[in-house]
Parts: sequence; C-alpha cells; structure tokens
Amino acid sequence: MTLLPPPLIALVGRPNVGKSTLFNRLTRTRDALVDNTPGLTRDRQYGVIKRGDNPYRLVDTGGYEADPQESIVHLIREQTIVAMEEADLVVFVVDGAAGIAADDLEIAEKLRISGKPVIVAVNKTEKRLDERSAVMFYELGLDPVAPISASQGIGVMDLLDLLEEKLGRIVPPELELDEEGLPKEGLAEEEKTPTRLAIVGCPNAGKSSLINRLLGEHRMLVSEIAGATRDSVDSPPITIGGEEFILVDTAGIRRKARVSLRVEKYAAIAALKAMDRADVAIMLLDAERGITDQDKRIASHAVESGCGLIIVVNKWDLMPRGRDVLKEFRTEIDIEFPRLSHCPIQMISAKSGFGVDKLMPLATKISRAVKMRISTGEFNRWLEGATERNPPPRAGGKPVKMRYGSQVKVSPPTFVIFANRPEKVGDAYKRYLENQLRAAYPLDGAPLRLIFRGGA
Ligand code: GDP
Ligand code: GDP
Repeated sequence: MTLLPPPLIALVGRPNVGKSTLFNRLTRTRDALVDNTPGLTRDRQYGVIKRGDNPYRLVDTGGYEADPQESIVHLIREQTIVAMEEADLVVFVVDGAAGIAADDLEIAEKLRISGKPVIVAVNKTEKRLDERSAVMFYELGLDPVAPISASQGIGVMDLLDLLEEKLGRIVPPELELDEEGLPKEGLAEEEKTPTRLAIVGCPNAGKSSLINRLLGEHRMLVSEIAGATRDSVDSPPITIGGEEFILVDTAGIRRKARVSLRVEKYAAIAALKAMDRADVAIMLLDAERGITDQDKRIASHAVESGCGLIIVVNKWDLMPRGRDVLKEFRTEIDIEFPRLSHCPIQMISAKSGFGVDKLMPLATKISRAVKMRISTGEFNRWLEGATERNPPPRAGGKPVKMRYGSQVKVSPPTFVIFANRPEKVGDAYKRYLENQLRAAYPLDGAPLRLIFRGGA
C-alpha cells in the first residue's frame, strides 16, 4: 500500500513561548489549550494547515524542559523528541520578549544534531516591529529566523512562506489574504470532511498492528499518567488513495493494550464509544479464535450505532492454505447476524500486509453509502415501484397503503414512510423494503432506518 501523508510540521519550544497560540493561529482552531500556566498543553495536538492545495499536518508538542524533575516534564520532553523525529520540519518557537534561555540552547543543540529542517520563530515581537529583536536568535546556530507575533497574527504569512520554501513547495500565486494576513480560503476549512474510521475488536485481534500499518509509523507515545493528558485520541488526518481518513480513538486502543485490569470489559466499552463517533467501523476478527461473545456484542452495537461496517478477518497468514476461512466466517455471520449480511467481509494479515490495501477503498465506499442522500422525488418513485411490484399484505381484511416518504437524515440513511396504518406494516414487509432499497442504491455496509408513520 502506498501511503503519502501530508508533511508533518512540529512546533517545538519550552513552555509558555506561545506554541499553542501559534498552533491555533495556523489551524484556526481552539484545539490546543492556551493558558498562562507553563506546560499546560501537555499532549501532542494534531491539526491541519490548509494552504491552497497543500495540506500540512501540524503537531503541537507539550514543551521541553532541559532538566526534567517530575514525570510529566519528562513525558513532555519525550514527546518533543518523538515529534522531532517524526516531523519533516520543526518550527522552533522562542520568546522574543524574554531572549535566549538556557533551555533554548539545549533544544537548539538537539535540533542541530537531528539535521531536520528548522525555522526559528521568534514570538512575542509585536512591540518591536522590526527584525532587530530577532537577530540575536541567530546565535542559536539555526536559520532562518522569523519574527512573529502569534497572538497578533503578525509575520505568520511570512512563516508559512518560509515553511513552503523549506519543504520545496510552491506557494499558489492566487492566494488572497484577509486583514489578519491569513489566506482568505480559511486555513483549516474543509470542503470535504475526512471519513472517521474506528477499528474495533477483541484484545489481541490485531487492532494496534493494523493501525500501525495504516499510519505507517511504528511508534506513538501514549501517556500513562492518568488525567495528566488531554485526551487527543484520534489520529491526525491521513490521506490514502486520495481520500482523507481519521482513525477514531487510536490512542484509546493503544493505551488499553497496556491496561491489564478488566481488559475485556474496558475494550468492549471503548469499542462502543468509538463506533458512536465513527462513520465507518472495521470490526476486526481473529481468524484463529473465530467469533467470540464480545464480537457478537460489538456486532449488534454496530447495527444500533448507525455507523457503516466492514467485517475484517485478521491473521490470514496463520490459516492453512486451501481452507476457505472467509466463507466460514460469512456463513456464521449470515446465520448469527442476518442484519449484517450486506456488510463486506475482507481477509487480511496486519502482520504481512496482505489485503490491507483493500480496506481503505472499502471504507471510502461505505462512508459514501452512510452519507448517501436520496431526493424525495426519487425516493417516492422507488417507493411506488417497490409497493406496486409487491404490495403490503392486507391486515384484518383491510389494505395497508404506503402514501409517500422521504429521507430525513444521513449517517445512517433514515427514511420516514407515511402509511395509512403504520402499525400494521409487518417485519417481513419492512425487510422487503430494505432489501429493495439496497438493490436500487449502493448502500452496502451502511445500516438503514425505515420509520413508518401515520397521518400526513
Ligand atoms: P505554549 O506553552 O508554548 O503553548 O504557550 P501558549 O500558546 O500557551 O502561550 C503562552 C502565553 O503567551 C499566553 O499567555 C499567550 O497569550 C502569550 N502569547 C502567545 N503569543 C504571544 C504573542 O505573540 N505576543 C504576546 N505578547 N504574548 C503571546
Ligand atoms: P490488539 O490488542 O487488538 O491491538 O492486537 P495487537 O495488534 O496488539 O496484536 C495482538 C497479537 O497478534 C500480537 O502479538 C501481534 O503481533 C499479533 N498479530 C496481529 N496481526 C497479526 C497477523 O496478521 N498475523 C499474525 N500471525 N499475528 C498477528
């Protein structure tokens, strides 16, 4: 599978220099916590900078202290180092009002050794609006050095230019700026929202292995200090096959893997929560273990939560050749969960990578199904056809009639159908209508809701 995530930019610097403020300015979100207390932005925060056609991923590190005394400081320091390693470019934020601090020298040293492209952003320079205040920061031995004011939005565009230059990208010439000197398009405005994908399943099914494979990185720091980190549980948006995805509750899965107490129970709850927040869920089954009770609980919740579902059987590499494992699982699912018979099933090995490239195209397809909108006119033409071909059975000697209907919601597609005697529409007929709707539209993998109402 080819994986080309947008370049990752890390904001690095000691606490209170203005990293969170700059993060907000660049992504135009309030995601990172801004506070006067040093070290309050503790977890790594991910966001997206959108500039013309070039998106960048931005990570705000928790800050960096040269002499860690408490474990939280140590953690922050580790995160900074990880961010430095992961990033394609580091924006080293320093405090222009405070001058060079001892910690700045140590960070600079680490950055010089790392060989990463660096831009030094000298923040809080709004009072000295010339470059002179920034000049002394050349002593850090890193360049370029750019004076900015994150809180006032000064110099941020120049910083973006430098960034693009360093990454060898071209600034679109047609870019228009607003009063704040930011691109008019809106830096973080999404035309299309990324598909939110949850990966759920029993402990040891291979969720972490699959996530690692999809993210293409094999280390992601997870805090174990309870309550110390703000829960940034979702992955940054990743682009696979031209589509953007966010992996929901990734950190939860990783953290959970290290929680030994009541793991099964914890895992089940986490899975349900993740599905509630996802457009599409991958239900990961262990080919060796078969379908467990917990899998069954997850499966029935998938129907209720309204997210789309892909059934994925992992550990293909452990299966004997010649055995049709997929068919065995399909049969069992169709018997146990007839309501999931429209969900695609895919065999993979998270370990070897077999089949993994099929997952994201499937997820994209199902995401479209989950968000599908059928116009009222079209829906009623379909309803007329379906009820003519096979009219609802009479109840108590009197006819049951569908008058008309319309789609009232997406995610999942929900339809209200008005009938003369809605309480007399039997389950078999409801199933008939659902199957007909699935036959007419590409809705595989998406749950459907048909609601019958009287009157109108
Ligand atoms: P972080 O700990 O590095 O993430 O720093 P924050 O973004 O939380 O900012 C620390 C403090 O500096 C906050 O009180 C901000 O309002 C303030 N600050 C951020 N940018 C500027 C700036 O450009 N000028 C001034 N004067 N203050 C700023
Ligand atoms: P999680 O608890 O669902 O996150 O599962 P992990 O990703 O931690 O995997 C559990 C165990 O199964 C680990 O020992 C993995 O190496 C192993 N594993 C995961 N995927 C595969 C696979 O495709 N084939 C084989 N043979 N082992 C796998």
